[in-house]
Amino acid sequence: MHFDFDLIVIGGGSGGLAGAFRAAEHGARVALLEPADLGGTCVNAGCVPKKAMWLAAGVGRQLAFAQAIGFAAQDCALDWPVFIAHRQRYIGNIHASYQRRLAEAGIALLPMRARLIDAHTVECEDGVRLCAPRLLVATGGHPIKPEIPGAELGGVSDDFFHWTAPPSRVALVGGGYIAAELAGVLQALGSRVEVFVRGPRLIESFDAELADQLAEDYRQAGVHLHFNCEVGAIERDGERLRVRGKGTTDEHAADERFDALLFATGRRPNTAGLGLDAAGVETDKRGHIVVDARHATSVDSIFAVGDVTTDLPLTPVAIAAARRLMDRLFADRDEPLDPDGIATVVFSHPPIGKVGLTEAKARELHGDDVYTTRASFRPMLHALADSPQRSLFKLVCLGEKRRVVGIHLLGEAADEILQGFAVAMKRGVTLDDLHDTVAIHPTSAEEVVLMR
Ligand code: FAD
Ligand code: NDP
Repeated sequence: MHFDFDLIVIGGGSGGLAGAFRAAEHGARVALLEPADLGGTCVNAGCVPKKAMWLAAGVGRQLAFAQAIGFAAQDCALDWPVFIAHRQRYIGNIHASYQRRLAEAGIALLPMRARLIDAHTVECEDGVRLCAPRLLVATGGHPIKPEIPGAELGGVSDDFFHWTAPPSRVALVGGGYIAAELAGVLQALGSRVEVFVRGPRLIESFDAELADQLAEDYRQAGVHLHFNCEVGAIERDGERLRVRGKGTTDEHAADERFDALLFATGRRPNTAGLGLDAAGVETDKRGHIVVDARHATSVDSIFAVGDVTTDLPLTPVAIAAARRLMDRLFADRDEPLDPDGIATVVFSHPPIGKVGLTEAKARELHGDDVYTTRASFRPMLHALADSPQRSLFKLVCLGEKRRVVGIHLLGEAADEILQGFAVAMKRGVTLDDLHDTVAIHPTSAEEVVLMR
């Protein structure tokens, strides 16, 4: 069989780009197919524009603190079009940098959609067929809406990134990462926010105590949270929208009419029309490509990484999986990705981060062997400004040596503090090791080494 390339990558997002660059570093001839902007979800409709909005919201909150502690600051609302121009310029620079790096690495970029024809062949949108001994699928995912009447009246996170002004009243449906993040951003930027969560708390995969404290911090900041409230329909009411609870017309219905509504109710993999059946690639019930620990699919020559698989849908996970896979395929280095101990942060206000086991999971697995310790405190700036927001840090430890198996941080700078402690946890740090470390004072981070 004639091969045009050593590797063909379908999808130029976090996983696809990382895989293409690493394979090229190892000397492989690589083609990358991407019909949209380079960088995928993370760069164009995820981490990057979201973090930009989060930072802007943070500046807005600092301005409020400035007034509270005595600065002669004026009320100054964000000029969205101006800020969005800055945000998109930043994103444009990322696109340009990827273009340059792809050219430097000698990777053939084909700006087209592709589908699999068989175990070695990919068909581009223009009908051209390319062959390679190895194919990498990294087509990511897309947001979904629940199938309820009026769902078409609401948007999804992709739509949020096209807004040029904040709605004065906004409803968010869902209680996961995106709902928790957008609630904080929109509230801080001046919207009145109501969140409809079908479960009993926000971000259920995080430690329950911290999730409850986040809800309390949000309430104090003016966010309206409706728990155990499944949305059954969205109705138009003149220019505005009404939210109806499931079952009856009035149960859980909000008093408010909303100017905008966003669904943050999860995502599904981009596998439609990808030719997975033709190539014999196995998928699960929700359409995710089934991969083993080394990201091999059911077809020997086809591999998959990122949100199109069942891996944790996070950018660094897609990148790490792709790099390790390419090291194995092209450099004979076999270090599969360890799915445990991956740190993750929700960019709420304040942020919340976790690595390892929640208390509930640790107790389920290890019963009475579990020891937990926590620190609840008001960060100094909040105390100075008389703001009620509290931070809550928690360590989950195991056995006589009290090895740390879970670190949970809610509070200002939690997003920046967690990474270093995640390394320590991966290396088997114990509570004694933490106590043996002299604190940096006065910081929030010192609470991690002071907990008893
Ligand atoms: P993607 O980045 O989605 O890339 C897939 C690419 O494949 C796309 O560019 C698409 O155009 C292309 N494609 C699709 N079909 C085809 C085809 N048939 N042919 C060719 N190309 C195709 N993660 C974090 O770690 N931190 C965060 O702060 C964070 N924030 C997020 C905020 C939001 C609002 C969202 C939605 C996600 C966020 N994520 C975050 C998750 C992160 O964006 C994803 O996990 C990551 O982008 C997945 O990378 P991927 O390569 O699997 O897919
Ligand atoms: P999540 O899986 O985090 O949360 C989905 C939420 O929607 C859950 O609360 C879920 O409830 C709820 N839900 C699902 N279906 C319905 C329904 N029919 N009616 C009402 N509620 C419903 O998904 P997101 O969309 O928030 O984010 C997708 C992924 O993207 C995240 O899991 C994360 O991995 C990634 N991401 C990462 C970020 C980061 O790293 N900071 C930021 C944003 C996204 P239930 O729990 O009851 O199923």
